[in-house]
Amino acid sequence: MTPPQIELRGVGKSYSGTTVLENLSLSLARGSRLALLGPSGSGKSTILNLIAGFSQPDTGDILIAGQPVARIPAHKRQVGVVFQNYALFPHLTVAENIAYPLRRRSVAKAEIGQRVNEVLGTMRLSAFGARPIAALSGGQQQRVAIARAIATRPDVVLMDEPMSALDRALRDELQVELKSLLTQMDATVIYVTHDQREAMALADNIAVINHGCLEQLGPTETLYRTPASAFVARFLTGASSLEARVSGQQPDGALRLAFADGSTLFGNWRAPGPVPNIGEVVELVVRPEDILVDTSGVMNEGTMAATIDLVIFEGSHRMVRLRLVNGDTLVSRRPAEDALVTGTSVRVGWAPQAGRAYPVIPKAAVS
Ligand code: ADP
Repeated sequence: MTPPQIELRGVGKSYSGTTVLENLSLSLARGSRLALLGPSGSGKSTILNLIAGFSQPDTGDILIAGQPVARIPAHKRQVGVVFQNYALFPHLTVAENIAYPLRRRSVAKAEIGQRVNEVLGTMRLSAFGARPIAALSGGQQQRVAIARAIATRPDVVLMDEPMSALDRALRDELQVELKSLLTQMDATVIYVTHDQREAMALADNIAVINHGCLEQLGPTETLYRTPASAFVARFLTGASSLEARVSGQQPDGALRLAFADGSTLFGNWRAPGPVPNIGEVVELVVRPEDILVDTSGVMNEGTMAATIDLVIFEGSHRMVRLRLVNGDTLVSRRPAEDALVTGTSVRVGWAPQAGRAYPVIPKAAVS
Protein backbone atom coordinates (compact mmCIF):
# COMPACT_ATOMS: atom_id res chain seq x y z
CA MET A 1 0.00 0.00 0.00
CA THR A 2 1.33 3.48 -0.85
CA PRO A 3 1.95 5.48 2.33
CA PRO A 4 0.46 8.98 2.63
CA GLN A 5 2.77 11.64 1.14
CA ILE A 6 2.60 13.60 4.40
CA GLU A 7 1.59 12.31 7.78
CA LEU A 8 1.52 14.01 11.17
CA ARG A 9 1.09 11.67 14.13
CA GLY A 10 0.16 13.26 17.44
CA VAL A 11 2.28 16.35 16.81
CA GLY A 12 2.60 18.86 19.64
CA LYS A 13 4.53 22.13 19.80
CA SER A 14 4.89 24.77 22.52
CA TYR A 15 6.70 28.08 22.60
CA SER A 16 7.84 29.32 26.03
CA GLY A 17 5.33 27.10 27.82
CA THR A 18 2.39 28.09 25.59
CA THR A 19 0.89 25.19 23.66
CA VAL A 20 0.57 26.10 19.98
CA LEU A 21 -0.25 22.65 18.56
CA GLU A 22 -1.80 19.83 20.52
CA ASN A 23 -1.79 16.19 19.49
CA LEU A 24 -2.32 17.02 15.83
CA SER A 25 -2.72 14.11 13.43
CA LEU A 26 -3.45 14.30 9.73
CA SER A 27 -2.48 12.50 6.59
CA LEU A 28 -2.39 13.61 3.01
CA ALA A 29 -2.39 11.41 -0.09
CA ARG A 30 0.16 12.01 -2.83
CA GLY A 31 -0.90 14.70 -5.30
CA SER A 32 -3.60 16.20 -3.11
CA ARG A 33 -3.91 19.90 -2.43
CA LEU A 34 -4.76 20.82 1.14
CA ALA A 35 -5.58 24.28 2.47
CA LEU A 36 -4.81 24.84 6.14
CA LEU A 37 -7.50 27.34 7.05
CA GLY A 38 -7.92 29.09 10.37
CA PRO A 39 -7.78 32.44 12.11
CA SER A 40 -4.50 34.26 12.59
CA GLY A 41 -2.48 32.66 15.39
CA SER A 42 -4.23 29.28 15.17
CA GLY A 43 -0.96 27.46 14.40
CA LYS A 44 -1.04 27.09 10.59
CA SER A 45 2.48 28.42 9.92
CA THR A 46 3.81 26.35 12.79
CA ILE A 47 2.49 23.20 11.07
CA LEU A 48 4.11 24.25 7.79
CA ASN A 49 7.45 25.02 9.44
CA LEU A 50 7.49 21.62 11.12
CA ILE A 51 6.85 19.82 7.82
CA ALA A 52 9.50 21.93 6.07
CA GLY A 53 12.00 21.14 8.84
CA PHE A 54 12.52 24.75 10.00
CA SER A 55 11.54 23.67 13.50
CA GLN A 56 11.07 20.38 15.35
CA PRO A 57 7.95 19.06 17.10
CA ASP A 58 8.11 18.55 20.89
CA THR A 59 6.01 15.40 20.62
CA GLY A 60 4.79 13.12 17.83
CA ASP A 61 6.19 12.25 14.43
CA ILE A 62 6.19 13.70 10.94
CA LEU A 63 6.55 11.32 8.01
CA ILE A 64 7.10 12.20 4.36
CA ALA A 65 6.41 9.37 1.92
CA GLY A 66 6.28 6.99 4.88
CA GLN A 67 9.71 8.01 6.27
CA PRO A 68 10.11 9.80 9.61
CA VAL A 69 11.90 13.08 8.88
CA ALA A 70 13.02 14.12 12.36
CA ARG A 71 16.69 13.60 11.41
CA ILE A 72 16.46 15.02 7.89
CA PRO A 73 17.46 18.71 7.61
CA ALA A 74 15.18 21.13 5.77
CA HIS A 75 17.24 21.32 2.56
CA LYS A 76 17.16 17.54 2.14
CA ARG A 77 13.40 17.10 2.54
CA GLN A 78 12.29 17.36 -1.13
CA VAL A 79 10.05 20.22 -0.11
CA GLY A 80 9.60 23.56 -1.89
CA VAL A 81 8.46 26.49 0.24
CA VAL A 82 6.83 29.78 -0.76
CA PHE A 83 6.45 32.48 1.92
CA GLN A 84 4.24 35.52 2.20
CA ASN A 85 7.25 37.87 2.11
CA TYR A 86 8.85 36.21 -0.96
CA ALA A 87 12.20 35.66 0.84
CA LEU A 88 14.14 36.28 -2.39
CA PHE A 89 17.79 37.38 -2.58
CA PRO A 90 17.62 41.06 -3.58
CA HIS A 91 21.21 41.17 -4.93
CA LEU A 92 20.63 38.27 -7.35
CA THR A 93 18.76 38.29 -10.66
CA VAL A 94 15.50 36.45 -11.22
CA ALA A 95 17.29 33.53 -12.90
CA GLU A 96 19.97 33.39 -10.18
CA ASN A 97 17.29 33.28 -7.47
CA ILE A 98 15.58 30.38 -9.19
CA ALA A 99 18.89 28.59 -9.76
CA TYR A 100 19.96 28.94 -6.12
CA PRO A 101 18.24 25.85 -4.63
CA LEU A 102 19.31 23.80 -7.67
CA ARG A 103 22.95 24.77 -7.06
CA ARG A 104 22.60 23.82 -3.39
CA ARG A 105 21.43 20.41 -4.52
CA SER A 106 24.44 20.12 -6.88
CA VAL A 107 22.32 19.81 -10.02
CA ALA A 108 24.53 19.84 -13.17
CA LYS A 109 25.10 23.31 -14.68
CA ALA A 110 23.45 22.55 -18.04
CA GLU A 111 20.41 21.13 -16.34
CA ILE A 112 20.12 24.16 -14.07
CA GLY A 113 19.92 26.41 -17.13
CA GLN A 114 17.28 24.20 -18.69
CA ARG A 115 15.11 23.99 -15.57
CA VAL A 116 15.36 27.72 -14.90
CA ASN A 117 14.15 28.45 -18.45
CA GLU A 118 11.37 25.94 -18.05
CA VAL A 119 9.94 27.43 -14.85
CA LEU A 120 10.43 30.98 -16.13
CA GLY A 121 8.16 29.94 -18.99
CA THR A 122 5.64 28.25 -16.70
CA MET A 123 5.39 31.35 -14.51
CA ARG A 124 5.30 33.70 -17.56
CA LEU A 125 8.59 35.30 -16.49
CA SER A 126 10.72 34.46 -19.54
CA ALA A 127 11.43 38.12 -20.29
CA PHE A 128 12.59 38.79 -16.72
CA GLY A 129 15.39 36.25 -16.16
CA ALA A 130 18.23 38.78 -16.20
CA ARG A 131 16.47 41.43 -14.15
CA PRO A 132 17.41 42.23 -10.56
CA ILE A 133 14.69 41.31 -8.06
CA ALA A 134 14.29 44.93 -6.98
CA ALA A 135 13.15 45.86 -10.50
CA LEU A 136 10.04 43.65 -10.25
CA SER A 137 6.57 44.38 -8.90
CA GLY A 138 5.21 42.50 -5.86
CA GLY A 139 3.16 40.15 -8.03
CA GLN A 140 6.18 39.37 -10.23
CA GLN A 141 8.38 38.77 -7.18
CA GLN A 142 5.86 36.31 -5.81
CA ARG A 143 5.82 34.50 -9.17
CA VAL A 144 9.63 34.23 -8.90
CA ALA A 145 9.26 32.80 -5.40
CA ILE A 146 6.83 30.18 -6.74
CA ALA A 147 9.15 29.44 -9.68
CA ARG A 148 12.05 28.94 -7.25
CA ALA A 149 9.98 26.56 -5.12
CA ILE A 150 8.94 24.38 -8.06
CA ALA A 151 12.28 24.41 -9.92
CA THR A 152 13.61 21.56 -7.78
CA ARG A 153 10.56 19.48 -8.77
CA PRO A 154 9.74 18.83 -5.14
CA ASP A 155 7.35 16.10 -4.05
CA VAL A 156 5.80 18.56 -1.62
CA VAL A 157 5.11 22.28 -2.06
CA LEU A 158 4.31 24.33 1.04
CA MET A 159 2.83 27.79 0.62
CA ASP A 160 2.39 30.18 3.53
CA GLU A 161 -0.13 32.92 2.67
CA PRO A 162 1.75 33.59 -0.59
CA MET A 163 -0.72 36.20 -1.78
CA SER A 164 -1.46 38.16 1.36
CA ALA A 165 0.98 40.97 0.53
CA LEU A 166 -0.57 41.56 -2.90
CA ASP A 167 -3.44 43.87 -3.78
CA ARG A 168 -6.85 42.47 -4.61
CA ALA A 169 -6.57 42.56 -8.42
CA LEU A 170 -3.15 40.86 -8.41
CA ARG A 171 -4.35 38.25 -5.95
CA ASP A 172 -7.29 37.33 -8.17
CA GLU A 173 -5.00 37.08 -11.21
CA LEU A 174 -2.31 35.04 -9.44
CA GLN A 175 -4.96 32.79 -7.88
CA VAL A 176 -6.13 31.70 -11.32
CA GLU A 177 -2.52 31.14 -12.49
CA LEU A 178 -1.68 29.20 -9.36
CA LYS A 179 -4.79 27.06 -9.63
CA SER A 180 -3.90 25.94 -13.14
CA LEU A 181 -0.23 25.44 -12.19
CA LEU A 182 -1.12 23.30 -9.16
CA THR A 183 -3.56 21.26 -11.24
CA GLN A 184 -0.79 20.41 -13.72
CA MET A 185 1.80 19.52 -11.09
CA ASP A 186 1.71 16.15 -9.39
CA ALA A 187 3.26 17.53 -6.21
CA THR A 188 1.40 17.37 -2.93
CA VAL A 189 0.55 20.91 -1.88
CA ILE A 190 -0.24 22.47 1.49
CA TYR A 191 -1.48 26.02 1.28
CA VAL A 192 -1.85 28.16 4.43
CA THR A 193 -4.50 30.86 4.41
CA HIS A 194 -6.99 32.60 6.70
CA ASP A 195 -9.19 33.44 3.68
CA GLN A 196 -11.90 30.84 3.15
CA ARG A 197 -12.54 31.91 -0.44
CA GLU A 198 -8.87 31.40 -1.31
CA ALA A 199 -8.89 28.01 0.42
CA MET A 200 -11.94 26.91 -1.56
CA ALA A 201 -10.54 28.25 -4.83
CA LEU A 202 -7.15 26.55 -4.61
CA ALA A 203 -7.51 23.38 -2.61
CA ASP A 204 -9.45 20.19 -3.02
CA ASN A 205 -9.28 19.45 0.70
CA ILE A 206 -9.47 21.83 3.62
CA ALA A 207 -8.25 21.36 7.18
CA VAL A 208 -9.82 23.88 9.54
CA ILE A 209 -7.46 24.70 12.42
CA ASN A 210 -8.70 26.30 15.63
CA HIS A 211 -6.30 27.03 18.52
CA GLY A 212 -3.80 24.43 17.33
CA CYS A 213 -6.39 21.66 16.98
CA LEU A 214 -7.84 20.15 13.83
CA GLU A 215 -11.58 20.95 13.78
CA GLN A 216 -12.36 19.16 10.52
CA LEU A 217 -10.54 17.86 7.44
CA GLY A 218 -12.24 16.83 4.24
CA PRO A 219 -13.09 17.68 0.65
CA THR A 220 -13.93 21.37 0.20
CA GLU A 221 -17.56 20.78 -0.75
CA THR A 222 -18.12 18.35 2.10
CA LEU A 223 -16.90 20.90 4.63
CA TYR A 224 -19.05 23.61 3.10
CA ARG A 225 -22.18 21.46 3.03
CA THR A 226 -21.70 19.54 6.26
CA PRO A 227 -19.53 21.51 8.69
CA ALA A 228 -18.92 19.37 11.76
CA SER A 229 -18.91 22.22 14.27
CA ALA A 230 -20.29 25.72 14.70
CA PHE A 231 -16.70 27.00 14.34
CA VAL A 232 -16.27 25.40 10.91
CA ALA A 233 -19.70 26.61 9.80
CA ARG A 234 -18.96 30.17 10.88
CA PHE A 235 -15.41 30.29 9.59
CA LEU A 236 -15.90 28.52 6.28
CA THR A 237 -19.31 29.78 5.20
CA GLY A 238 -19.47 33.22 6.83
CA ALA A 239 -22.59 32.01 8.64
CA SER A 240 -24.22 33.97 11.44
CA SER A 241 -24.92 32.33 14.75
CA LEU A 242 -27.34 32.78 17.65
CA GLU A 243 -27.75 31.05 20.96
CA ALA A 244 -31.18 29.51 21.49
CA ARG A 245 -32.95 27.22 23.95
CA VAL A 246 -34.44 23.95 22.77
CA SER A 247 -38.22 24.02 23.32
CA GLY A 248 -39.29 20.88 21.45
CA GLN A 249 -38.84 18.72 18.40
CA GLN A 250 -40.91 18.57 15.21
CA PRO A 251 -42.17 15.23 13.84
CA ASP A 252 -39.48 15.50 11.10
CA GLY A 253 -36.72 15.80 13.73
CA ALA A 254 -36.10 19.56 13.46
CA LEU A 255 -35.54 21.26 16.82
CA ARG A 256 -37.89 24.03 17.90
CA LEU A 257 -35.71 26.78 19.27
CA ALA A 258 -37.07 29.47 21.56
CA PHE A 259 -35.71 33.02 21.76
CA ALA A 260 -36.06 35.57 24.56
CA ASP A 261 -38.34 37.77 22.42
CA GLY A 262 -40.93 34.96 22.31
CA SER A 263 -40.23 33.83 18.74
CA THR A 264 -39.55 30.24 17.67
CA LEU A 265 -37.15 29.24 14.90
CA PHE A 266 -36.05 25.86 13.62
CA GLY A 267 -32.75 24.06 13.24
CA ASN A 268 -31.40 20.54 12.87
CA TRP A 269 -28.86 18.99 15.21
CA ARG A 270 -25.66 18.58 13.15
CA ALA A 271 -23.07 17.59 15.71
CA PRO A 272 -22.08 14.06 16.73
CA GLY A 273 -23.68 12.95 19.98
CA PRO A 274 -27.23 12.86 21.26
CA VAL A 275 -29.82 15.47 20.34
CA PRO A 276 -30.04 17.99 23.21
CA ASN A 277 -32.94 17.90 25.65
CA ILE A 278 -35.62 20.52 26.07
CA GLY A 279 -34.20 23.46 28.00
CA GLU A 280 -30.61 23.03 26.77
CA VAL A 281 -28.89 25.94 25.00
CA VAL A 282 -27.48 25.35 21.50
CA GLU A 283 -25.68 27.44 18.89
CA LEU A 284 -27.83 27.94 15.82
CA VAL A 285 -25.83 28.68 12.65
CA VAL A 286 -27.31 29.89 9.34
CA ARG A 287 -25.51 30.77 6.11
CA PRO A 288 -26.03 34.24 4.56
CA GLU A 289 -27.64 32.81 1.42
CA ASP A 290 -30.22 30.93 3.53
CA ILE A 291 -31.43 33.86 5.64
CA LEU A 292 -34.68 35.17 4.16
CA VAL A 293 -35.95 38.69 4.75
CA ASP A 294 -39.72 39.28 4.73
CA THR A 295 -40.98 42.85 4.46
CA SER A 296 -44.70 41.91 4.34
CA GLY A 297 -45.16 42.19 8.12
CA VAL A 298 -46.71 38.69 8.48
CA MET A 299 -45.69 37.13 11.79
CA ASN A 300 -45.33 33.44 10.94
CA GLU A 301 -43.87 30.85 13.27
CA GLY A 302 -40.28 30.28 12.19
CA THR A 303 -39.60 34.00 11.77
CA MET A 304 -38.25 36.68 14.08
CA ALA A 305 -38.48 40.48 14.21
CA ALA A 306 -35.42 42.39 12.99
CA THR A 307 -34.42 45.81 11.71
CA ILE A 308 -32.29 46.29 8.61
CA ASP A 309 -29.13 47.80 10.01
CA LEU A 310 -26.88 48.01 6.96
CA VAL A 311 -27.18 47.24 3.22
CA ILE A 312 -24.13 46.80 1.00
CA PHE A 313 -24.73 46.56 -2.75
CA GLU A 314 -22.22 44.10 -4.22
CA GLY A 315 -23.35 44.02 -7.84
CA SER A 316 -24.93 40.58 -8.18
CA HIS A 317 -26.40 40.70 -4.65
CA ARG A 318 -26.82 42.78 -1.52
CA MET A 319 -25.31 41.94 1.86
CA VAL A 320 -27.82 42.90 4.52
CA ARG A 321 -27.08 43.13 8.23
CA LEU A 322 -30.14 42.52 10.39
CA ARG A 323 -30.32 43.60 14.02
CA LEU A 324 -32.49 41.52 16.33
CA VAL A 325 -34.40 42.79 19.37
CA ASN A 326 -31.65 41.62 21.75
CA GLY A 327 -28.94 43.41 19.74
CA ASP A 328 -27.53 40.28 18.02
CA THR A 329 -26.97 40.54 14.28
CA LEU A 330 -27.43 38.21 11.31
CA VAL A 331 -25.96 38.65 7.84
CA SER A 332 -28.10 37.78 4.85
CA ARG A 333 -27.19 37.71 1.16
CA ARG A 334 -30.15 38.75 -0.93
CA PRO A 335 -30.59 39.13 -4.69
CA ALA A 336 -29.63 42.60 -5.95
CA GLU A 337 -33.19 43.21 -7.12
CA ASP A 338 -34.54 42.97 -3.54
CA ALA A 339 -34.94 46.64 -2.67
CA LEU A 340 -34.09 46.53 1.05
CA VAL A 341 -33.69 49.82 2.87
CA THR A 342 -31.78 50.56 6.08
CA GLY A 343 -34.08 51.19 9.05
CA THR A 344 -36.97 48.99 7.79
CA SER A 345 -38.64 46.61 10.26
CA VAL A 346 -38.76 43.10 8.81
CA ARG A 347 -39.16 39.41 9.77
CA VAL A 348 -36.24 37.04 9.23
CA GLY A 349 -36.39 33.26 8.89
CA TRP A 350 -35.10 30.25 6.98
CA ALA A 351 -36.12 26.82 5.79
CA PRO A 352 -35.82 24.43 8.79
CA GLN A 353 -33.07 22.38 7.12
CA ALA A 354 -30.96 25.57 6.65
CA GLY A 355 -30.68 26.07 10.42
CA ARG A 356 -27.84 24.02 11.93
CA ALA A 357 -27.63 23.48 15.65
CA TYR A 358 -24.37 22.61 17.45
CA PRO A 359 -22.98 22.72 20.98
CA VAL A 360 -22.27 26.29 22.05
CA ILE A 361 -18.70 27.57 21.55
CA PRO A 362 -17.36 30.93 22.74
CA LYS A 363 -17.78 33.64 20.10
CA ALA A 364 -14.27 34.95 20.78
CA ALA A 365 -12.87 31.76 19.21
CA VAL A 366 -13.71 33.07 15.72
CA SER A 367 -11.82 36.22 14.78
P1 ADP B 1 -0.95 31.20 12.09
O1 ADP B 1 -0.03 30.78 11.00
O2 ADP B 1 -2.19 30.39 12.17
O3 ADP B 1 -1.25 32.68 12.09
P2 ADP B 1 1.31 30.64 13.81
O4 ADP B 1 1.60 29.20 13.62
O5 ADP B 1 2.17 31.64 13.12
O6 ADP B 1 -0.23 30.91 13.50
O7 ADP B 1 1.38 30.97 15.36
C1 ADP B 1 0.66 30.25 16.34
C2 ADP B 1 1.04 30.79 17.71
O8 ADP B 1 2.39 30.46 18.00
C3 ADP B 1 0.92 32.29 17.83
O9 ADP B 1 0.41 32.60 19.10
C4 ADP B 1 2.35 32.75 17.69
O10 ADP B 1 2.55 33.94 18.38
C5 ADP B 1 3.13 31.62 18.31
N1 ADP B 1 4.47 31.45 17.69
C6 ADP B 1 4.72 31.07 16.42
N2 ADP B 1 6.06 30.99 16.17
C7 ADP B 1 6.66 31.33 17.35
C8 ADP B 1 8.03 31.43 17.77
N3 ADP B 1 9.04 31.18 16.94
N4 ADP B 1 8.25 31.82 19.05
C9 ADP B 1 7.24 32.06 19.91
N5 ADP B 1 5.93 31.98 19.58
C10 ADP B 1 5.64 31.62 18.33
